[in-house]
This record gives sequence, structure tokens and C-alpha cells, in this order.
Amino acid sequence: MREHPEDEGLWWGELWDALYHPGSICSGTYAAIPYVVEVALAHPGPVTRRECAVVVGITVLEGPVDVVPEEFRTDFRTAIAHARRLALEELRVATPRLTTHLHLLMALAGLSGWKRLGDQIDGLAADQLETKCPKCGVPLVLLPEDEGMSISAEPNAAFKPGAQRLPVTPAPERTAPSDDGAGPREQLLALSLHAGHSRAATWLRCLGGTASCPACAETFPLEDPGDSSR
Ligand SMILES: [Zn+2]
Repeated sequence: MREHPEDEGLWWGELWDALYHPGSICSGTYAAIPYVVEVALAHPGPVTRRECAVVVGITVLEGPVDVVPEEFRTDFRTAIAHARRLALEELRVATPRLTTHLHLLMALAGLSGWKRLGDQIDGLAADQLETKCPKCGVPLVLLPEDEGMSISAEPNAAFKPGAQRLPVTPAPERTAPSDDGAGPREQLLALSLHAGHSRAATWLRCLGGTASCPACAETFPLEDPGDSSR
């Protein structure tokens, strides 16, 4: 990485394979990440800065810091703080691609300890987000759309144009300054608006809104009030 900074796109492909294995992050990943972050901090390339923030963010979302072997934990915590700064800086310079923007939001949420929100944005980036009705327990899927979000009780509704969908009611727009006592979701929403990603902002507003269960008609808030990470 240090010797051929111009090939950053190439070696990030390899690094992802080496660092990230969904469902089974090995201790080697936790040991390597502080070094990767160190190089990324010194590297001017946008790919490195973004990919670094995303790979550390997704690693944190996958397993809490207590699962990190003790000998790597201190350096890993430092790496999280640096990667969080990278994610924030990259979100502020505004990336044109919506997917990249969502991945950075997911990373920032993970690196800030907002696990549920990070997992939700991960679902949005993958085009569907699973949840369930708090009353009848039926599995539901939240579907991001051009102008908002809908909810369906049909499996794989994202791929069925005829699936029954109900619109999600978004949270009301805040008029107060965004940094003043804004919760995690509102902080990310402000970043989306600043970056000109109005679609991401609308989805974040929907994640703070309410939905009706298509199976039992119960109306419920999508934000989980019992989530300690909020
Ligand atoms: Zn229900």
C-alpha cells in the first residue's frame, strides 16, 4: 500500500478478501486493522479513505469490541476513532454515488456505536431491510423507493412488482439546528442533506417514522425505543 499508492483500487480488492469474512471475523483482522488505518490516514486517495472507513465500520457492526482479543483491543479502539473521523470527513466531502454514501453512513453508525442504525442502513444499501411486526410477529420487509419507503409482509417483495406494499410515514422534519441535541439518525440525516443525497435523507426520515403491519394493521414506530445504542 505504501509503495504503490496509485494502485489503491486494485489492492483494496485484495484487502477486502483478506480482512473481511462475513460471519467469522478472525483475530488477524483485528490485528491488521490498526495498520491499515495508519496507512489510510497518511494516504490522500479517496478510495483508501472510504474503503478503510467502511471495512472497519462493517467489522465493528459484525462483532462488538469485547470480542476483540485483549492484546489487540487498545489499538483496535484507536483505529475505530480514526476510522470514524475518516468516515465523517468523506461524508462531508460528498461522494456522488448513493451506494457509497450509504456505505459511509453505515460505517459511521457502526463506528459511533449505533449498531441498530448501522444494520438498518446496511439493509437499505442492499435494497431491503427485514423487520417484524411487534404485535403479531409476522416477518416484514422495508423497501426503499424513489420517493420514500414501503412495508410488505410478502417474502421477497423487493422482487415482486405485484406485492402488497403500504407506505411508511416518515418522521416530521426538524426545524431546529441539526447538531443541537440531534439523535444519531438525525445526525446522519443532516449529513445526507448536506451531501445532496435527498433519497438517503428521505429513507432516514422514514426509519424514524411509523409503519402499519399489512397482516394485523397495527401501527408501530420503526425506531426501537429500547435500543440502548441510540
Ligand atoms: Zn402485525
